[in-house]
Amino acid sequence: MKYCIECGAKLTEKECINFGLSEGMIPYCPICNEFRFPVFNIAVSMVIFNADYSKSLLIQQYGKKRNILVAGYVNKAESLEQALVREISEEINLDILDYKFNASEYFEKSNTLICNFIVRAKNEKFTLSQEVDYAEWYSIKNAKEVILKDSLAERFFDKALAKVCKKDYLLSA
Ligand SMILES: [Zn+2]
Repeated sequence: MKYCIECGAKLTEKECINFGLSEGMIPYCPICNEFRFPVFNIAVSMVIFNADYSKSLLIQQYGKKRNILVAGYVNKAESLEQALVREISEEINLDILDYKFNASEYFEKSNTLICNFIVRAKNEKFTLSQEVDYAEWYSIKNAKEVILKDSLAERFFDKALAKVCKKDYLLSA
């Protein structure tokens, strides 16, 4: 960030002291007299499994025939957990059994920090919203084959598999 998002003035840098501790040099607007911390978006994405981790749900969106994860932006004042529950309800209306944090990655194209969770569904019933073109439960082996290659979705999916600790067993089943 080179210019102030409020007034457009060129930013300088100034040491930021918080509770007596230095946070280092932070972009600073000399007109507004305010620090301008980095601005980015936050989104949640979910690797969704059925109750016994034998299947995973992938979706297709925006008219594209590629299998990806359910995801969405976090609204202002919302927690990651609230965004996760809302997005799953809005996009596929699936009942959630439990969820846990998986991994996060910064996605430069949309200036977004994407926080991924492993979600377990109570049952396999879902209802597509208008935001989703298609969704299907795949065996873990098939999900691995059809998920969009070399994508963030695939990296999150692989990490989730490693975390549910049944990777080899499930892939050979
Ligand atoms: Zn300013």
